[in-house]
Amino acid sequence: MTSSRIDILVIGAGPAGTSAARAAAGKGLTVICADRRAEIGVPVQCAEFVPMPLLRSVHETDSRVQDVEGMLTVLPSGLRHRRAFPGMMVDRARFDQGLAELAQAAGAQVETRCQFLDWDGEVARLRRGTDEALVVRPRLLIGADGPHSLVAEAVGLPRQQVVYTRQYTVPLLCPYADTDIFLSDAFPGGYGWLFPRGPVANLGLGADRRFEENLKLPLEQLHRQVLERGLVGAAILGRTGGAIPVGGIRPMVHGNVVLAGDAAGLTHPITGAGIPAAVISGERAGAAAADYLAGDMGALESYAEDMRDQFGPTLARAMQRRKALEAVWRQPAAREDRVMRSGWIAFDEYFAA
Ligand SMILES: Cc1cc2nc3c(=O)[nH]c(=O)nc-3n(C[C@H](O)[C@H](O)[C@H](O)COP(=O)(O)OP(=O)(O)OC[C@H]3O[C@@H](n4cnc5c(N)ncnc54)[C@H](O)[C@@H]3O)c2cc1C
Repeated sequence: MTSSRIDILVIGAGPAGTSAARAAAGKGLTVICADRRAEIGVPVQCAEFVPMPLLRSVHETDSRVQDVEGMLTVLPSGLRHRRAFPGMMVDRARFDQGLAELAQAAGAQVETRCQFLDWDGEVARLRRGTDEALVVRPRLLIGADGPHSLVAEAVGLPRQQVVYTRQYTVPLLCPYADTDIFLSDAFPGGYGWLFPRGPVANLGLGADRRFEENLKLPLEQLHRQVLERGLVGAAILGRTGGAIPVGGIRPMVHGNVVLAGDAAGLTHPITGAGIPAAVISGERAGAAAADYLAGDMGALESYAEDMRDQFGPTLARAMQRRKALEAVWRQPAAREDRVMRSGWIAFDEYFAA
Protein backbone atom coordinates (compact mmCIF):
# COMPACT_ATOMS: atom_id res chain seq x y z
CA MET A 1 0.00 0.00 0.00
CA THR A 2 1.30 3.46 -0.88
CA SER A 3 0.40 6.48 1.17
CA SER A 4 1.01 10.10 0.31
CA ARG A 5 0.35 13.54 1.76
CA ILE A 6 -0.48 16.16 -0.82
CA ASP A 7 -2.26 19.50 -1.04
CA ILE A 8 -5.19 18.63 -3.32
CA LEU A 9 -6.68 15.39 -4.55
CA VAL A 10 -9.07 15.77 -7.49
CA ILE A 11 -11.33 12.84 -8.28
CA GLY A 12 -12.29 12.68 -11.95
CA ALA A 13 -10.29 13.78 -15.00
CA GLY A 14 -13.25 15.08 -17.02
CA PRO A 15 -13.36 18.79 -17.92
CA ALA A 16 -14.19 19.83 -14.34
CA GLY A 17 -11.43 17.78 -12.69
CA THR A 18 -8.60 18.64 -15.06
CA SER A 19 -9.58 22.33 -15.09
CA ALA A 20 -9.47 22.30 -11.28
CA ALA A 21 -6.14 20.44 -11.24
CA ARG A 22 -4.64 22.87 -13.72
CA ALA A 23 -5.75 25.94 -11.79
CA ALA A 24 -4.51 24.62 -8.43
CA ALA A 25 -1.21 23.26 -9.74
CA GLY A 26 -0.65 26.56 -11.54
CA LYS A 27 -0.62 28.20 -8.09
CA GLY A 28 2.22 25.93 -7.00
CA LEU A 29 0.30 23.27 -5.03
CA THR A 30 0.90 19.53 -5.15
CA VAL A 31 -2.09 18.08 -6.99
CA ILE A 32 -3.09 14.55 -7.96
CA CYS A 33 -6.02 14.14 -10.36
CA ALA A 34 -7.24 10.53 -10.36
CA ASP A 35 -9.60 8.89 -12.85
CA ARG A 36 -10.79 5.32 -12.98
CA ARG A 37 -10.67 5.26 -16.77
CA ALA A 38 -7.75 3.62 -18.57
CA GLU A 39 -7.64 6.43 -21.11
CA ILE A 40 -8.76 9.99 -20.41
CA GLY A 41 -11.97 10.89 -22.25
CA VAL A 42 -12.59 7.34 -23.51
CA PRO A 43 -15.23 6.13 -24.10
CA VAL A 44 -16.83 9.38 -25.22
CA GLN A 45 -20.25 9.81 -23.59
CA CYS A 46 -21.27 13.06 -25.19
CA ALA A 47 -23.01 14.68 -28.16
CA GLU A 48 -19.91 16.93 -28.43
CA PHE A 49 -21.48 20.37 -28.91
CA VAL A 50 -20.02 23.37 -27.12
CA PRO A 51 -21.12 27.02 -27.33
CA MET A 52 -18.83 29.85 -28.52
CA PRO A 53 -17.77 31.01 -25.02
CA LEU A 54 -15.74 27.81 -24.78
CA LEU A 55 -13.61 28.84 -27.77
CA ARG A 56 -10.46 29.31 -25.68
CA SER A 57 -10.59 25.75 -24.31
CA VAL A 58 -11.35 24.36 -27.78
CA HIS A 59 -8.34 26.22 -29.20
CA GLU A 60 -6.06 25.18 -26.36
CA THR A 61 -6.97 21.53 -26.83
CA ASP A 62 -7.03 21.59 -30.65
CA SER A 63 -10.34 19.72 -30.54
CA ARG A 64 -12.57 21.60 -32.98
CA VAL A 65 -14.24 19.37 -35.59
CA GLN A 66 -16.65 21.80 -37.24
CA ASP A 67 -18.66 24.94 -36.64
CA VAL A 68 -22.36 25.01 -35.88
CA GLU A 69 -24.51 27.87 -37.15
CA GLY A 70 -28.10 27.17 -36.16
CA MET A 71 -30.56 25.11 -34.17
CA LEU A 72 -33.45 23.47 -36.01
CA THR A 73 -36.21 22.41 -33.63
CA VAL A 74 -38.78 19.87 -34.84
CA LEU A 75 -42.06 20.14 -32.92
CA PRO A 76 -44.54 17.29 -32.26
CA SER A 77 -46.72 18.38 -35.24
CA GLY A 78 -43.69 18.18 -37.53
CA LEU A 79 -43.44 21.99 -37.78
CA ARG A 80 -39.84 23.20 -37.89
CA HIS A 81 -38.35 26.27 -36.30
CA ARG A 82 -34.82 27.49 -37.04
CA ARG A 83 -32.76 30.07 -35.23
CA ALA A 84 -29.13 31.09 -35.08
CA PHE A 85 -27.22 29.10 -32.49
CA PRO A 86 -23.49 29.43 -33.03
CA GLY A 87 -21.14 26.92 -31.49
CA MET A 88 -18.69 24.16 -32.26
CA MET A 89 -18.63 20.42 -32.48
CA VAL A 90 -15.55 19.05 -30.77
CA ASP A 91 -13.68 15.79 -30.57
CA ARG A 92 -14.60 15.22 -26.93
CA ALA A 93 -11.89 12.63 -26.29
CA ARG A 94 -9.27 15.07 -27.64
CA PHE A 95 -10.86 17.90 -25.62
CA ASP A 96 -10.63 15.97 -22.34
CA GLN A 97 -7.12 14.70 -23.13
CA GLY A 98 -5.97 18.21 -24.06
CA LEU A 99 -7.24 19.59 -20.75
CA ALA A 100 -5.44 16.78 -18.90
CA GLU A 101 -2.21 17.65 -20.75
CA LEU A 102 -2.60 21.28 -19.73
CA ALA A 103 -3.08 20.22 -16.11
CA GLN A 104 0.08 18.11 -16.32
CA ALA A 105 1.98 20.99 -17.91
CA ALA A 106 0.93 23.14 -14.92
CA GLY A 107 2.47 20.51 -12.59
CA ALA A 108 -0.48 18.26 -11.68
CA GLN A 109 -0.03 14.50 -11.56
CA VAL A 110 -2.80 12.85 -13.61
CA GLU A 111 -3.39 9.19 -12.73
CA THR A 112 -5.51 6.87 -14.87
CA ARG A 113 -6.90 3.47 -13.79
CA CYS A 114 -7.15 4.98 -10.34
CA GLN A 115 -10.53 4.55 -8.70
CA PHE A 116 -11.73 6.53 -5.71
CA LEU A 117 -13.34 4.23 -3.13
CA ASP A 118 -14.11 6.32 -0.06
CA TRP A 119 -13.23 9.26 2.15
CA ASP A 120 -13.34 9.39 5.95
CA GLY A 121 -12.78 13.12 6.32
CA GLU A 122 -8.98 12.88 6.29
CA VAL A 123 -7.98 9.94 4.18
CA ALA A 124 -9.07 8.99 0.67
CA ARG A 125 -8.79 5.35 -0.31
CA LEU A 126 -8.21 4.58 -3.96
CA ARG A 127 -7.45 1.49 -6.01
CA ARG A 128 -4.84 1.75 -8.76
CA GLY A 129 -4.95 -0.85 -11.51
CA THR A 130 -6.73 -3.98 -10.41
CA ASP A 131 -5.51 -4.33 -6.86
CA GLU A 132 -2.98 -1.74 -5.64
CA ALA A 133 -4.43 0.09 -2.66
CA LEU A 134 -3.54 3.74 -2.42
CA VAL A 135 -4.11 5.98 0.57
CA VAL A 136 -3.94 9.72 0.04
CA ARG A 137 -4.14 12.38 2.74
CA PRO A 138 -4.96 15.58 0.90
CA ARG A 139 -5.42 18.89 2.66
CA LEU A 140 -8.42 19.35 0.36
CA LEU A 141 -10.52 17.04 -1.81
CA ILE A 142 -12.26 18.09 -5.04
CA GLY A 143 -15.08 15.86 -6.27
CA ALA A 144 -15.33 16.16 -10.06
CA ASP A 145 -16.43 12.59 -10.54
CA GLY A 146 -19.51 13.15 -12.66
CA PRO A 147 -23.24 12.51 -12.32
CA HIS A 148 -22.94 9.54 -9.94
CA SER A 149 -20.34 11.25 -7.73
CA LEU A 150 -19.01 9.01 -4.96
CA VAL A 151 -17.32 12.00 -3.38
CA ALA A 152 -20.73 13.68 -3.04
CA GLU A 153 -22.08 10.50 -1.48
CA ALA A 154 -19.13 10.35 0.91
CA VAL A 155 -20.07 13.79 2.28
CA GLY A 156 -23.68 12.71 2.72
CA LEU A 157 -25.47 13.97 -0.39
CA PRO A 158 -28.17 11.78 -1.91
CA ARG A 159 -27.87 10.47 -5.47
CA GLN A 160 -28.81 13.03 -8.11
CA GLN A 161 -31.86 12.79 -10.31
CA VAL A 162 -30.63 11.90 -13.80
CA VAL A 163 -31.91 11.45 -17.33
CA TYR A 164 -30.53 8.51 -19.30
CA THR A 165 -29.34 8.80 -22.87
CA ARG A 166 -28.57 6.59 -25.82
CA GLN A 167 -26.63 7.73 -28.87
CA TYR A 168 -25.54 6.31 -32.24
CA THR A 169 -22.83 7.65 -34.51
CA VAL A 170 -24.18 7.51 -38.05
CA PRO A 171 -22.77 8.58 -41.45
CA LEU A 172 -23.71 12.13 -42.46
CA LEU A 173 -24.48 12.17 -46.18
CA CYS A 174 -23.89 15.89 -46.82
CA PRO A 175 -22.20 18.75 -44.96
CA TYR A 176 -24.54 20.09 -42.30
CA ALA A 177 -24.14 22.99 -39.86
CA ASP A 178 -27.27 22.88 -37.69
CA THR A 179 -27.99 21.04 -34.48
CA ASP A 180 -31.38 19.37 -34.88
CA ILE A 181 -33.59 18.99 -31.82
CA PHE A 182 -36.65 16.73 -31.75
CA LEU A 183 -39.34 17.48 -29.17
CA SER A 184 -41.80 14.65 -28.76
CA ASP A 185 -43.67 12.56 -26.24
CA ALA A 186 -41.53 9.71 -27.61
CA PHE A 187 -38.64 11.21 -25.57
CA PRO A 188 -40.36 12.01 -22.26
CA GLY A 189 -38.19 14.03 -19.88
CA GLY A 190 -35.68 14.67 -22.64
CA TYR A 191 -35.42 15.18 -26.39
CA GLY A 192 -33.88 13.72 -29.51
CA TRP A 193 -30.84 15.25 -31.24
CA LEU A 194 -28.84 15.08 -34.42
CA PHE A 195 -25.52 16.91 -34.19
CA PRO A 196 -23.24 17.01 -37.26
CA ARG A 197 -19.61 16.05 -36.75
CA GLY A 198 -17.80 16.29 -40.09
CA PRO A 199 -18.51 13.09 -42.05
CA VAL A 200 -20.65 11.61 -39.25
CA ALA A 201 -23.42 12.73 -36.90
CA ASN A 202 -24.28 12.05 -33.29
CA LEU A 203 -27.88 10.91 -33.20
CA GLY A 204 -29.28 10.41 -29.73
CA LEU A 205 -31.97 10.93 -27.18
CA GLY A 206 -32.48 11.38 -23.50
CA ALA A 207 -35.48 10.26 -21.48
CA ASP A 208 -36.62 10.00 -17.90
CA ARG A 209 -36.85 6.34 -16.93
CA ARG A 210 -39.97 6.99 -14.91
CA PHE A 211 -41.77 7.56 -18.22
CA GLU A 212 -39.75 5.43 -20.64
CA GLU A 213 -37.57 2.45 -19.76
CA ASN A 214 -36.55 1.45 -23.27
CA LEU A 215 -34.43 3.99 -25.15
CA LYS A 216 -33.57 1.65 -28.02
CA LEU A 217 -36.95 1.68 -29.76
CA PRO A 218 -37.42 5.47 -29.84
CA LEU A 219 -33.82 5.87 -31.05
CA GLU A 220 -34.42 3.40 -33.87
CA GLN A 221 -37.58 5.33 -34.74
CA LEU A 222 -35.66 8.62 -34.76
CA HIS A 223 -32.98 7.03 -36.94
CA ARG A 224 -35.65 5.97 -39.48
CA GLN A 225 -37.11 9.48 -39.41
CA VAL A 226 -33.79 11.17 -40.31
CA LEU A 227 -32.98 8.42 -42.84
CA GLU A 228 -36.18 9.40 -44.68
CA ARG A 229 -34.91 12.98 -44.89
CA GLY A 230 -31.84 11.64 -46.72
CA LEU A 231 -29.52 13.32 -44.22
CA VAL A 232 -27.83 10.27 -42.69
CA GLY A 233 -26.93 6.71 -43.63
CA ALA A 234 -28.31 3.52 -42.16
CA ALA A 235 -25.03 2.25 -40.71
CA ILE A 236 -24.46 2.51 -36.98
CA LEU A 237 -20.77 3.33 -36.57
CA GLY A 238 -20.75 3.69 -32.80
CA ARG A 239 -22.95 3.50 -29.74
CA THR A 240 -22.75 5.33 -26.46
CA GLY A 241 -24.89 6.78 -23.70
CA GLY A 242 -24.72 7.96 -20.14
CA ALA A 243 -26.47 9.85 -17.40
CA ILE A 244 -27.16 13.58 -17.25
CA PRO A 245 -27.93 15.23 -13.90
CA VAL A 246 -31.20 17.18 -14.01
CA GLY A 247 -31.78 18.00 -10.35
CA GLY A 248 -30.06 21.39 -10.27
CA ILE A 249 -27.31 22.87 -8.08
CA ARG A 250 -26.26 20.99 -4.96
CA PRO A 251 -24.38 22.22 -1.91
CA MET A 252 -20.83 22.51 -3.23
CA VAL A 253 -18.71 22.96 -0.11
CA HIS A 254 -18.51 20.41 2.71
CA GLY A 255 -15.64 21.31 5.07
CA ASN A 256 -12.51 20.68 3.04
CA VAL A 257 -14.39 18.90 0.24
CA VAL A 258 -15.52 20.83 -2.84
CA LEU A 259 -17.70 19.66 -5.73
CA ALA A 260 -17.53 20.84 -9.36
CA GLY A 261 -19.13 20.09 -12.72
CA ASP A 262 -21.76 17.35 -12.98
CA ALA A 263 -20.99 16.28 -9.41
CA ALA A 264 -22.18 19.72 -8.28
CA GLY A 265 -25.38 19.49 -10.37
CA LEU A 266 -24.37 22.38 -12.65
CA THR A 267 -25.59 20.72 -15.85
CA HIS A 268 -28.56 22.40 -17.59
CA PRO A 269 -31.66 20.33 -16.65
CA ILE A 270 -33.40 21.02 -19.97
CA THR A 271 -30.62 20.90 -22.58
CA GLY A 272 -28.24 18.59 -20.71
CA ALA A 273 -25.32 20.86 -21.59
CA GLY A 274 -22.64 20.59 -18.93
CA ILE A 275 -19.23 21.06 -20.52
CA PRO A 276 -19.08 24.87 -20.11
CA ALA A 277 -20.18 24.68 -16.47
CA ALA A 278 -17.67 21.89 -15.84
CA VAL A 279 -14.76 23.93 -17.18
CA ILE A 280 -15.84 27.15 -15.45
CA SER A 281 -16.59 25.55 -12.08
CA GLY A 282 -13.46 23.40 -12.26
CA GLU A 283 -11.19 26.38 -12.90
CA ARG A 284 -12.87 28.37 -10.17
CA ALA A 285 -12.85 25.47 -7.66
CA GLY A 286 -9.13 24.83 -8.26
CA ALA A 287 -8.25 28.48 -7.76
CA ALA A 288 -10.47 28.76 -4.67
CA ALA A 289 -8.92 25.61 -3.20
CA ALA A 290 -5.45 27.11 -3.61
CA ASP A 291 -6.55 30.38 -1.98
CA TYR A 292 -8.15 28.47 0.89
CA LEU A 293 -4.98 26.50 1.54
CA ALA A 294 -3.02 29.76 1.44
CA GLY A 295 -5.13 31.03 4.36
CA ASP A 296 -8.17 32.67 2.76
CA MET A 297 -10.80 30.92 4.88
CA GLY A 298 -13.72 32.37 2.90
CA ALA A 299 -12.43 31.22 -0.50
CA LEU A 300 -14.50 28.05 -0.78
CA GLU A 301 -17.77 29.67 0.20
CA SER A 302 -17.04 32.46 -2.23
CA TYR A 303 -16.57 29.80 -4.96
CA ALA A 304 -20.01 28.36 -4.17
CA GLU A 305 -21.56 31.80 -4.13
CA ASP A 306 -20.01 32.70 -7.49
CA MET A 307 -21.34 29.48 -9.03
CA ARG A 308 -24.81 30.15 -7.65
CA ASP A 309 -24.68 33.71 -9.02
CA GLN A 310 -23.46 32.58 -12.42
CA PHE A 311 -25.61 29.49 -12.98
CA GLY A 312 -28.42 29.76 -10.42
CA PRO A 313 -30.98 31.85 -12.36
CA THR A 314 -30.56 29.83 -15.60
CA LEU A 315 -30.79 26.51 -13.78
CA ALA A 316 -33.75 27.67 -11.69
CA ARG A 317 -35.72 28.53 -14.84
CA ALA A 318 -34.78 25.21 -16.42
CA MET A 319 -35.89 23.34 -13.27
CA GLN A 320 -39.21 25.18 -13.37
CA ARG A 321 -39.73 24.26 -17.03
CA ARG A 322 -38.74 20.68 -16.35
CA LYS A 323 -41.27 20.43 -13.58
CA ALA A 324 -44.06 21.80 -15.78
CA LEU A 325 -43.23 19.26 -18.49
CA GLU A 326 -43.11 16.41 -15.98
CA ALA A 327 -46.81 17.00 -15.38
CA VAL A 328 -47.72 16.39 -19.04
CA TRP A 329 -45.54 13.54 -20.32
CA ARG A 330 -47.58 10.62 -21.67
CA GLN A 331 -50.67 12.81 -21.84
CA PRO A 332 -52.29 14.53 -24.86
CA ALA A 333 -50.76 17.89 -23.83
CA ALA A 334 -47.29 16.50 -24.52
CA ARG A 335 -48.24 16.24 -28.20
CA GLU A 336 -49.07 19.96 -28.44
CA ASP A 337 -46.51 22.26 -30.04
CA ARG A 338 -47.55 25.07 -27.69
CA VAL A 339 -46.63 23.04 -24.62
CA MET A 340 -43.29 21.87 -26.00
CA ARG A 341 -42.34 25.40 -27.09
CA SER A 342 -42.68 26.63 -23.51
CA GLY A 343 -40.19 23.97 -22.42
CA TRP A 344 -37.41 24.50 -24.95
CA ILE A 345 -34.72 27.19 -25.04
CA ALA A 346 -35.17 28.06 -28.74
CA PHE A 347 -38.54 29.72 -28.08
CA ASP A 348 -39.46 33.05 -26.50
CA GLU A 349 -42.15 31.26 -24.46
CA TYR A 350 -39.40 29.44 -22.56
CA PHE A 351 -38.11 32.78 -21.26
CA ALA A 352 -41.53 34.24 -20.48
CA ALA A 353 -42.26 35.07 -16.83
C1 LIG B 1 -24.90 11.27 -24.05
C2 LIG B 1 -24.48 12.61 -23.47
C3 LIG B 1 -24.41 13.69 -24.34
C4 LIG B 1 -23.98 14.93 -23.84
N1 LIG B 1 -23.81 15.94 -24.72
C5 LIG B 1 -23.35 17.15 -24.29
C6 LIG B 1 -23.07 18.20 -25.22
O1 LIG B 1 -23.22 18.04 -26.44
N2 LIG B 1 -22.64 19.38 -24.72
C7 LIG B 1 -22.45 19.58 -23.39
O2 LIG B 1 -22.06 20.70 -22.98
N3 LIG B 1 -22.69 18.59 -22.48
C8 LIG B 1 -23.10 17.38 -22.92
N4 LIG B 1 -23.30 16.35 -22.01
C9 LIG B 1 -23.00 16.60 -20.60
C10 LIG B 1 -21.48 16.63 -20.39
O3 LIG B 1 -20.89 15.48 -20.98
C11 LIG B 1 -21.17 16.67 -18.89
O4 LIG B 1 -21.89 17.73 -18.31
C12 LIG B 1 -19.67 16.88 -18.64
O5 LIG B 1 -18.93 15.78 -19.08
C13 LIG B 1 -19.42 17.12 -17.16
O6 LIG B 1 -18.03 17.14 -16.92
P1 LIG B 1 -17.45 16.64 -15.50
O7 LIG B 1 -15.99 16.82 -15.59
O8 LIG B 1 -18.21 17.27 -14.42
O9 LIG B 1 -17.84 15.09 -15.45
P2 LIG B 1 -17.37 13.89 -16.40
O10 LIG B 1 -17.03 14.38 -17.75
O11 LIG B 1 -18.44 12.85 -16.26
O12 LIG B 1 -16.05 13.36 -15.73
C14 LIG B 1 -16.07 12.64 -14.53
C15 LIG B 1 -14.88 11.73 -14.51
O13 LIG B 1 -14.84 11.11 -13.23
C16 LIG B 1 -14.43 9.78 -13.38
N5 LIG B 1 -14.89 9.02 -12.22
C17 LIG B 1 -16.17 8.76 -11.86
N6 LIG B 1 -16.20 8.05 -10.71
C18 LIG B 1 -14.92 7.86 -10.35
C19 LIG B 1 -14.28 7.20 -9.25
N7 LIG B 1 -15.00 6.59 -8.27
N8 LIG B 1 -12.94 7.18 -9.18
C20 LIG B 1 -12.20 7.80 -10.16
N9 LIG B 1 -12.73 8.43 -11.22
C21 LIG B 1 -14.09 8.48 -11.31
C22 LIG B 1 -15.05 9.34 -14.70
O14 LIG B 1 -14.34 8.25 -15.25
C23 LIG B 1 -14.96 10.61 -15.54
O15 LIG B 1 -13.80 10.63 -16.35
C24 LIG B 1 -23.71 15.10 -22.47
C25 LIG B 1 -23.82 14.00 -21.60
C26 LIG B 1 -24.20 12.77 -22.10
C27 LIG B 1 -24.29 11.60 -21.17
